[in-house]
Amino acid sequence: MPYADKEKRLQYMRKYRREWNREKFGFKARVPFPESFWRRVERGPQCWKWLGSFRNGYGQIEINYKTIGAHRVSYELQHGSIPLGFLVRHSCDNKWCVNPEHLSVGTPKDNTHDAMERGRLATGERHPFNINPALRPRGERHWKVKLTEDQARAIKSKRGSTIKSSVLAAQFCVSKSTIKAIWANRLWRWV
Ligand SMILES: [Zn+2]
Repeated sequence: MPYADKEKRLQYMRKYRREWNREKFGFKARVPFPESFWRRVERGPQCWKWLGSFRNGYGQIEINYKTIGAHRVSYELQHGSIPLGFLVRHSCDNKWCVNPEHLSVGTPKDNTHDAMERGRLATGERHPFNINPALRPRGERHWKVKLTEDQARAIKSKRGSTIKSSVLAAQFCVSKSTIKAIWANRLWRWV
């Protein structure tokens, strides 16, 4: 959606939502922004708990009909605006924390690196493909597949026979190197 249209749609939403709110709540003033944020924060001795709504474990708040991460709002209130393309990261590892002292900016790369060091990434045994091997996009489930499992089995059964790889390649509409890769067990290892 072009940017101009998006702005227009937001204007429209603001206008009609305001009218709808008026009908529903009368002219009762809404709590203005910084208070509307801080009233949803429970300040603890270390981490400050977000009491509002969440998405993917991170707090979120709607400001001017846009939903923003609560930790990002907290960071901006304390330290100023976040540079474009940067994330706000937690030094305490608690996604629900909005204590500005626990927040710093960093690149997405920093974040992944930290997650890796702290063992929070789903790699190895914890990777979804290893928990449920049926999810792994291989063989006929792969998006670039050209052969069916039966064809691959047929090609494999010709391994070591006198038939040439170029002949099979022409027959199955794949390249010679694909045939050789199947024979060498680099492709379709399990058939
Ligand atoms: Zn914290």
